[in-house]
Order: sequence, then C-alpha cells, then structure tokens
Amino acid sequence: MHPSGIREIMDLAAQFPDSIHLEVGEPTFAPAPPILDAAKAAIDQGIARYTPNSGLLSLREKIAERLGTRGWKVSPSQIVVTPGAVCALFSAIRALVDPGDEVLVPDPGWPNYTSMAQLSGGQPVGYPLSSECGYLPCIDDLAAKVTDRTKLLIINSPSNPTGAVFPPDLIMSIVEFARQNDLYVISDEVYEAFVFEGEHQMAGALDPDGRVVTISGFSKTYAMTGWRVGYAVAPERIAKLISKLQEPVVCCASAISQRAAEAALSVSDDHIAEMRNAYRQRRDLIASRLGPAGLLACTPHGAFYALVDLRSVGQDSYSIARDLLTKKRVATAPGETFGKSGAGLVRISLVGAPEQIDTACHRLVDYVNGG
Ligand code: PLP
Repeated sequence: MHPSGIREIMDLAAQFPDSIHLEVGEPTFAPAPPILDAAKAAIDQGIARYTPNSGLLSLREKIAERLGTRGWKVSPSQIVVTPGAVCALFSAIRALVDPGDEVLVPDPGWPNYTSMAQLSGGQPVGYPLSSECGYLPCIDDLAAKVTDRTKLLIINSPSNPTGAVFPPDLIMSIVEFARQNDLYVISDEVYEAFVFEGEHQMAGALDPDGRVVTISGFSKTYAMTGWRVGYAVAPERIAKLISKLQEPVVCCASAISQRAAEAALSVSDDHIAEMRNAYRQRRDLIASRLGPAGLLACTPHGAFYALVDLRSVGQDSYSIARDLLTKKRVATAPGETFGKSGAGLVRISLVGAPEQIDTACHRLVDYVNGG
C-alpha cells in the first residue's frame, strides 16, 4: 500500500499555519439540529449497547423506505449499516475478491479502492479516465482491461476527484458490460446528493441479476463525517457476507450515530439543497477564475472537488503540490495520488470559505505565470 499523498501534504501544511487548506474534502457545515437532538436523546435514553451486525432494523427500514421513494424497491435485509462508507466498501471488496483476482479501479480515482483491493489480496488494475471524455469511462477502455482474472469493477459517480456525474445511460451500459463479462460492480455513490448538472442514477436499481453493490452513507449528504455511518445495499447473499465480516472487524456502527442517522433521514431536503447550492457557487467561482486561465482540467458536475491542470509547469504532481504549499501557501492534493492519469494535476476541494477559495485561485494562476 502506498501512503496517501493527501496525508503527506496535510502533514507538511501543519508547518505553514497561514496556508489555505484545499487538500481535504470534509464538509464545513454542521449537521442539522434534529440530528444533534437525536444523538443527545439517544445518550439520555441509555442507548449504549451493541446493535446487530447489519445495523438497527429501524434504520435499515428507513433507508429502504427512502430508496423506495426514489424508485428502487429493496428489502431491509439487503442493507448493511457500517461505520462509514469506508467500511461498507472494504467489507464488500473483502466479500467479493479472492487472492489474485483483478479489480478494475478508476484512474484517476479515490486511492482507497486500490489499497482495499490490495488488502484483500487482489490486484488493482486502473481503467483510464480522461479530461477529453469528461472523465467518463468508455466501455472499450474497460473491455481492454478485462482478463480471465477480473472479478470486480468499481465505479464512482459523482466522482472524487474529477466531479464527473455518469449519465443514467452510461450506468446502464456499464451494468450490461458487467453482465456480459460476469463481473461484480461496486458503485460508490457517497456524493449522490451533490449533483449540479445531470442526474444521479443508482446503479443497484439497474442490477439485472444480483451483481451490483451500492455504497452510500451519511458523511457527505448530512455533513456527518465524524459520526461514521455508511451502508451497503447488496443482493441478499452478498449482504449476508458483508454483515458477517462486520463481526470480526468492527461488530457494528455506533448505536448513537445510528439513531442520529435515522433522524437525518427525516431532515428536510432544503437543508441538503442549501449545501448543494453552496458547493455549486464555489464550483462556479473556481470555474470563473481557473477556466479562462486554462487551468481547469474539466468542469465538475457534482461532488465537491476539481482537478487543476498544471501540466504546463512540467513537474510531477507531488513536487507541484509541495511547491504550491511552500511558495504560495495553498495546500492541494497531488494528482498522482489518484492514479497515473493524475500526473501534472492537483485536486482542490470546494468545501472551504469562498473568499479563501478565491484567494487560492489567484495564487494558482500566479504560480503558473511564474509569479
Ligand atoms: N468514497 C469516496 C469516493 C470518498 O471520497 C469518501 C470519503 O472521502 C468515502 C467513500 C468515505 O466516506 P465515509 O466517511 O462514509 O467513510
């Protein structure tokens, strides 16, 4: 496993207290008041015990109900609540991948897919995504990576780090491609609430025959990163495996956080829309600052990140990120931590204050112009 390039820059940034932090992607919003109230009530009511491995039935019922209102009928027994989507992803990969199996991961993509595949004894194989194609996967590129050891394809829309939102017909083609090649699909949809243009398509809703595992959670949608609640929605036999894997690893997610997550599902959509609008405004801001300078690798249509194209600088992305920090006091994530296709790019996150993002954009332009 490679250490995270994001962590490297974060650690270095600690030496520069006046730097602007665009390297991490944590929402700065507070969870809505009903979420906080539910957690306090759970403590006062003595909710202090283990829950079932799969999570509280009442929470799984509410998640199933919510998915039902969005047109996807699932049973609570298909849902496993985990400590964060990270754990749902890890358990799903662990459940599906045998040593030596190849796992197709997006490049650029969230680096944890690679390390999770490696921790399961699998062989991660990057499939290319390019700015010219709006960072959307092309079926021919996927096909070129399939061997007789390929077991699993991981997709992520809206994407970290590219901000690409896969159109519904592309998700449909990917699921069909998986069926033709007998692959499992893990669809990481943790940024599903933050789509600025286009439409989010839940991959699991198109599952023809029990091969798609959908991952989502409460960290991003409800600004609850530290509460650690995520979930997998899977065909029943895979859900059983994921649930079984909870026992030796984490047992279950925090009971208090699960109660809070139940309350989150009743929070008005207006609260989420407020966050989405704030991220969209910040996206518009960076597009207006970096676009005309030719520095935006692609306009993000969702999530809360953007890739900045600094290939003209002629250095590797780790050197660029260190340089930006030490000379311009802007902390960014080196593109190569997301895969080979991230060469010459850095990722910035759009969660900070607009004034800070604005200043950082000016500094980025200045950096490229040699100032
Ligand atoms: N998937 C992606 C693409 C992410 O960017 C993150 C967090 O940054 C996660 C999953 C994990 O989310 P959670 O906090 O629910 O574990």
